[in-house]
Amino acid sequence: MPPDLSAADLFTAAFAVALVLGLLVKFWLASRQIRHVARHRDAVPAAFAGTITPEAHRKAADYTIAKARFGLLEMAFGAAVLLGWTLLGGLNLLNELLLRALGPGMLQQLALLAAFALIGGLLELPFSLHQTFGIEQRFGFNKMTGRLWLADLLKSTLVGALIGLPIAALILWLMDTAGQHWWLWAWAAWMGFNLVLLMVYPTFIAPLFNQFKPLEDESLKASVTALMQRCGFAAKGLYVMDGSRRSAHGNAYFTGFGAAKRVVFYDTLLARLSQRQVDAVLAHELGHFKHRHIVQRIGAMFALSLAGFALLGWLSSQTWFYTGLGVHPFLALLPDGSPPPNDALALLLFMLAMPVFSFFVAPLSAQLSRHHEFQADAFAVAQTSGADLSAALLKLYEDNASTLTPDPVFVKFYYSHPPASERLARLQPAA
Ligand SMILES: [Zn+2]
Repeated sequence: MPPDLSAADLFTAAFAVALVLGLLVKFWLASRQIRHVARHRDAVPAAFAGTITPEAHRKAADYTIAKARFGLLEMAFGAAVLLGWTLLGGLNLLNELLLRALGPGMLQQLALLAAFALIGGLLELPFSLHQTFGIEQRFGFNKMTGRLWLADLLKSTLVGALIGLPIAALILWLMDTAGQHWWLWAWAAWMGFNLVLLMVYPTFIAPLFNQFKPLEDESLKASVTALMQRCGFAAKGLYVMDGSRRSAHGNAYFTGFGAAKRVVFYDTLLARLSQRQVDAVLAHELGHFKHRHIVQRIGAMFALSLAGFALLGWLSSQTWFYTGLGVHPFLALLPDGSPPPNDALALLLFMLAMPVFSFFVAPLSAQLSRHHEFQADAFAVAQTSGADLSAALLKLYEDNASTLTPDPVFVKFYYSHPPASERLARLQPAA
């Protein structure tokens, strides 16, 4: 394909440059964070001197540094795997092996997606194991047994296959049969699939992994219900989840939407917070709804996916997109001389290459998210009390061993929530 050669080379170069640049930025950010946290390890910031013990502060620093160091290792490994799949020809090889074994067609393409997911999952296993039984264990957060970990793995693989294969087959079928504007149909199918998933997740999928019991504490129930009524909010139910089965970290969240909406408290959260503090945390979550953050997020997901599918629609018809990423789908010809379908390859290459480029806009979405957190906090202060929210957040920071002294640049880039100092400082005047 001489006319495409230069376009493919250019794309390879752009991909390699973005990958290396992204790695350098990530490495720089992580080392900044590690140095910054280590430098402040032995002194509790003045604003927290009365509330956080030096031991808790040191533990948070050590935990943050351990996670960041491990993140560096994961990052290097991830980049090597990405290169292995693309420029070094891994995906091309897998595709050819499956073509030889199964012949071209839907079955081969689904097998390619499944094999890719399985191999990727296996490569990540050691990291997941170390994360849970190395780091989380060392800092006293892990509550999982090896048996539960394995059961989780098998269940999530099975659920992933049961959910993932049909939607993948539908999208591949649309790519093959829906003509030039297949990407519009595929986008519609993908959005419909996501909405259905949002609706069935709380009732059918989450219970496979955790137990959800209706909240029984009558006085907490009364105060939570009163708070929700005050805010003009209705949910289908209040539940307590056995988060303590897996981890000591605490949380509370809303799940589902429309009629399936419910409030879920981790049992670990209820064990640590007073009734008024639980109210304040819940009011923060209600703030996200009041400010329509959830609807905005779903809207943004719709718009970004549309742009993504349009881009994929165009890329999938460009030979350089494949050859530039080390895949030669047109070399293996069918007996009649035509190239076999390469839709699954287009999907995989898109999933592999996109994050390399989109990494650089991550700070924008983090910035927006932090802005939303401030808005939700302000709502919680207006509905409950700044003092209660401060106290609750402090306990959560301590229980999650979140560092109080993150590197400011690292925060700008990655933090979806404002760091403790900024967040609590805004709650002070109201408190
Ligand atoms: Zn929030």
